[in-house]
Amino acid sequence: TQAHLEAMAAQRHLNAFITETPEKALAMAEASDQRRHAGKAGAMDGIPLAIKDLFCTEGVLTTAGSHILDGFKPTYESTVTANLWKAGAVMLGKVNMDEFAMGSSNMTSYHGHVANPWKRKADKNAMLVPGGSSGGSASSVAARIAMAATGTDTGGSIRQPAAFCGIVGIKPTYGRCSRWGIVAFASSLDQAGPMTRSVEDAAIMLGAMAGHDPKDSTSVDTPVPDFRAGLTGDIRGMKIGIPKEYRVDGMSPEIEKLWGQGAEWLKAAGATPVEISLPHTKYALPTYYIIAPAEASSNLARYDGVRFGLRVPADSLDEMYELTRAAGFGAEVKRRILIGTYVLSAGYYDAYYLRAQRLRSLIARDFTEAFKQVDVILTPATPTAAFAEGENSDDPVAMYLNDVFTVTVNLAGLPGLSVPAALSGEGLPLGLQLIGKAFDEATLLKAGQVLE
Ligand code: GLN
Repeated sequence: TQAHLEAMAAQRHLNAFITETPEKALAMAEASDQRRHAGKAGAMDGIPLAIKDLFCTEGVLTTAGSHILDGFKPTYESTVTANLWKAGAVMLGKVNMDEFAMGSSNMTSYHGHVANPWKRKADKNAMLVPGGSSGGSASSVAARIAMAATGTDTGGSIRQPAAFCGIVGIKPTYGRCSRWGIVAFASSLDQAGPMTRSVEDAAIMLGAMAGHDPKDSTSVDTPVPDFRAGLTGDIRGMKIGIPKEYRVDGMSPEIEKLWGQGAEWLKAAGATPVEISLPHTKYALPTYYIIAPAEASSNLARYDGVRFGLRVPADSLDEMYELTRAAGFGAEVKRRILIGTYVLSAGYYDAYYLRAQRLRSLIARDFTEAFKQVDVILTPATPTAAFAEGENSDDPVAMYLNDVFTVTVNLAGLPGLSVPAALSGEGLPLGLQLIGKAFDEATLLKAGQVLE
């Protein structure tokens, strides 16, 4: 813990942390030491973690990357973080993120941009984004400030930053981890997961985070397997689906090549690649960018200047709401609220929201059909390597294209694993994604180990 706190202090230029909690970290490390001496070590005893600032932490500032939560110190602890502390983990602090987890570059945070510790070989000055929305989580793990971090993933926010920063990230099956105490973005898509240096670490940490929670009615009461014990390295006979619809325009040639190589590596380990079709893939981005903003516009209605954080004083209640929300939310959040309110409004609901819900079912059905033939599906994690600040940033639609390979998984509620598999010619990490059957994270992790 001491060494990680030093690394944190030495790398403040990354802007990965919103709140550092060194005293808490040392106290937790001390307590975990005592438990170990008493022979009661947990699965994550003494492991220093960075916690995405979307997880409510009791008595510790929780901002969701937003101005509107200024000064918000929850009186409760999220179930996932409580599970981690129970397993002996130590909190280093709360890490930066896109505002309310909306973004793919960590550039929408009220608390400033986060730097990716990786640099292009030819241009060491260009500041690369860490991806988003779990940008501080990915950056702090890649920079060896934290041994691992929590992330959340609504449309790729664990897997895309993991790929950009050369680390492992898994979005578990919807319902595997409790959402209780995590600031909600799009409740039917949000899921917490680990961001780690290796697949083995991800297996250990997921085991500690997961489990049924009566406080979240969508958390599923199913046993959590020993993911680490499942890492046998034996994938002989496994069928790997290669979906032809994921060969999209704008994919970098290096990533396309790596995708083919990934299939070869799995084949060399005894698996069989099979071409499959997920015919509704092309509707996934527009479907996601209707459903996620619709749910967000409803979830974000609670930030009214009365209950949480920021309040801009005014003469009337209505004016106070307006001024508080105008000052408290950033541009991307306002854009999502506008889109969400529009697609849910009478007269447009059938044309947008209802159609998006139907497409969501078709996308999920594509996967159900595919998993009759294969055990896991292999795709790239992102269409490109990490980009520089400024690239993509003035065109929201170009930014949304980052999520082309990841959003389908959230729409279908399935688990997705991003594994760093190679370096680009510019020396940047490139990630591959494995998609699994519902509640079959064990198979994903086992196959993922072959790719890392
Ligand atoms: N980049 C996507 C978005 O902006 C996904 C975010 C997420 O998974 N939280 O909505």
